[in-house]
Amino acid sequence: MQNDFDVLIIGKGPAGISAALYALRAGLSVLIVAKDAGALSRAHAIANYYGLESAITGKELAQRGEDQAKKLGAEFFTGEVIDLMFAEKFHVRVKYENAETEFLAKSVIIAAGSVRSKAPVPGLDAFEGKGVSYCAVCDGFFYRKKNVAVLGSGAYALAEASELLPLAASVSICTLGEKTTVEIPADYALETEKIVAVEGEGKVQKIRFESGKEIAVDGIFVAIGTASAADLARKTGAAVQKNKLAVDEKRMTTVPGLFAAGDCLGGILQVAVAVGDGAKAGLGAIEFVRNLKAKESK
Ligand SMILES: Cc1cc2nc3c(=O)[nH]c(=O)nc-3n(C[C@H](O)[C@H](O)[C@H](O)COP(=O)(O)OP(=O)(O)OC[C@H]3O[C@@H](n4cnc5c(N)ncnc54)[C@H](O)[C@@H]3O)c2cc1C
Repeated sequence: MQNDFDVLIIGKGPAGISAALYALRAGLSVLIVAKDAGALSRAHAIANYYGLESAITGKELAQRGEDQAKKLGAEFFTGEVIDLMFAEKFHVRVKYENAETEFLAKSVIIAAGSVRSKAPVPGLDAFEGKGVSYCAVCDGFFYRKKNVAVLGSGAYALAEASELLPLAASVSICTLGEKTTVEIPADYALETEKIVAVEGEGKVQKIRFESGKEIAVDGIFVAIGTASAADLARKTGAAVQKNKLAVDEKRMTTVPGLFAAGDCLGGILQVAVAVGDGAKAGLGAIEFVRNLKAKESK
């Protein structure tokens, strides 16, 4: 499989597939990276979408979309996007099975849906901006030679921890009572108990676990479950307001070439809206890539 695409789309729900259909029909190379079928896989019956005379299951609608994009030449890759950065091109790091790979793209469309796992930690929200962060690459610098903890038990938590390791004095990975789904190297202190409290005078100072054990930390990075659309966008420096990505009418974020569509933008969480958004983002990406290619050929 080639690893350099015109457009890389994160998510194969209605928004991602709709964006892909436009980009493919415009002759661009498209890779769709997704970990699963998204919200549609949980919908028993979709009856309120255009052209569906009888209700069909969400799974069937998702499969129809995927088949349609494949027929036009879309490439699919099953995996979890754990990092996104821009250096001349977009670099998209993906964890799959027991391995990692990186894809390059001129333009990226985030269509990652609305799921965001909240950390089950009492009192954590009160420390947001006072030691609690959701982006290691954005805020890691502030914790040079300090002790930090990463909350999470999967590939995304480990990826965030690996950003912090070269900077911080120590990095603890706190799984909040969950089993780890990746092997945690010995470089990290592994805390598997549930957290009962985060404490500090005006800023994070310590974490208290169920058994009464305490660890002193200056910063806590939340990386529960999979990286959300906002988590990924933040890594590129794109503006995120109240956990939602800021986009223009073409669905472009504040980073040129980075688009977002569908439930991850909030508002009305419906297939029809996601499909419309995907169309706008797809058309925006076509314009962006064509302009880029025109500049490069001069
Ligand atoms: C139970 C239920 C019933 C519903 N019923 C209806 C209905 O009747 N009518 C209606 O119009 N709408 C309904 N909806 C809403 C509809 O399913 C969503 O609005 C729509 O699916 C949103 O599309 P999307 O493409 O934005 O996101 P999603 O469909 O959620 O797709 C998100 C995609 O992003 C991928 N992804 C996320 N993070 C990552 C990552 N880090 N790495 C790789 N991939 C990632 C996911 O695997 C998935 O492929 C229902 C939703 C649910 C849950």
